[in-house]
Amino acid sequence: MGIDAATWRVIKPNLDRLPTFRRLCQIGECRELVLKEKPVSPSVWCGIFSGKTPKEHRHDSFVVGDRLVRREDIKVDFIWDILHRAGKKVKVLNVPFIVPPYSFGVDFRPVGFGLPTNEKEWQEELERVSEKARELLAEKPDLLIICYTLLDRIQHFHWGEDCVLEWYRKLDGKIGELIFDTGFLREKQNKLIIISDHGFCSFGEAKIQTLPLKSEWGELKGDHHENAPLIAVNLDYEIERPQDVFFALKKGAGIK
Ligand SMILES: [Zn+2]
Repeated sequence: MGIDAATWRVIKPNLDRLPTFRRLCQIGECRELVLKEKPVSPSVWCGIFSGKTPKEHRHDSFVVGDRLVRREDIKVDFIWDILHRAGKKVKVLNVPFIVPPYSFGVDFRPVGFGLPTNEKEWQEELERVSEKARELLAEKPDLLIICYTLLDRIQHFHWGEDCVLEWYRKLDGKIGELIFDTGFLREKQNKLIIISDHGFCSFGEAKIQTLPLKSEWGELKGDHHENAPLIAVNLDYEIERPQDVFFALKKGAGIK
């Protein structure tokens, strides 16, 4: 599960109000990855699912020239390509390494073209991604990848406001339904990785500015931080960098 822009800075001090994260921290390994690369979403998500460093995959922007970058423009095999070729059942939902986010083996129309900008769209993404994910989980695929993008947008515009925690609470509830209420984690062979592509901080605090201060939607209050949260449950693989997720999934699928 990918949660774009999730940060321990919001989760850790509020664990008493985020029961799913609290439970995950009790049963799983909750850590932080410090990115060595630029904390930009297209590049980090691409590395997470291809195992390649930015130098190797060379994808670091949603737009090149005046054109949106497409899946075909990125010359890598993603974990789903490899597992699919090996005859595994793989479902991929809403991964934001391109705009609109990418799905594989799933018919899904991303909310707001993958850039949800208001409360209505954030709520819609939360509900539609969760609902689809639940459907897909019931099919018991070998690998299911799902991503939520809403926190990134919310935090860019509302970092420091009370509403940020409210959205974490809504997300916490949906994740709880998905991984606990469905019984997914009761089956001991099931493994779970939750990862973010970067953390978050106030706008001026970020080492690297990822967006201009003023946007067509208003002035930005937050930006990406190089510390990204990681939660692993039942995983027998050491994840030290975003790229290691790819290798963990490959090993989990029994592919050399
Ligand atoms: Zn991101």
